[in-house]
Amino acid sequence: MAALLQSGHLNPHPKYRTGLGFDAHELVAGRRLMLGGVHIPSKLGLAGHSDADVLLHALTDALLGALALPDIGALFPDTDAKWKDAASELMLKGTYQRVRAKGFRLVNADCVLVCDQPKLVPHSVAIRASIARMLGVPVDRIGLQAKTTEGTRLALKRKSIAAMAIVLVEGDCPCMGTVPKAAKPR
Ligand code: MG
Repeated sequence: MAALLQSGHLNPHPKYRTGLGFDAHELVAGRRLMLGGVHIPSKLGLAGHSDADVLLHALTDALLGALALPDIGALFPDTDAKWKDAASELMLKGTYQRVRAKGFRLVNADCVLVCDQPKLVPHSVAIRASIARMLGVPVDRIGLQAKTTEGTRLALKRKSIAAMAIVLVEGDCPCMGTVPKAAKPR
């Protein structure tokens, strides 16, 4: 490690870091469907310990991954009664506070929801606005694609929803982004 830093091969304070998150939950009767903190009218909702907001879970994991922190399951265990039916907004906000405390802020996030039913495109704007509000960024920093599986074998058979998210975070400490000079060749 020290040799890598000394040689200039490794930037000790990278200005940018990326993170990737994925999650999937089963659709069941008797649950409210929450996606990105927005209630989506649906006969089925997502099963889970918390409100099972699969999109916020993927986004939370992406932020944690960007800084190589423990994942959402480690930080918000489903064995903890505190998180029973809890709003996943609390997890996302708590995670983003950690990111900010480490001197990083969100540049942008891009998300994919994979869901055959219900149709999510009509809710895309509301979901993006909801996430932007939670993270305190303009809505144009939050991308979202709502995809169906087009009847392929990837199919979720209308029984689950999956989400992926990628984030770019930027160090806002003045010392960040400086690349040490490479050692002079001998
Ligand atoms: Mg989850």
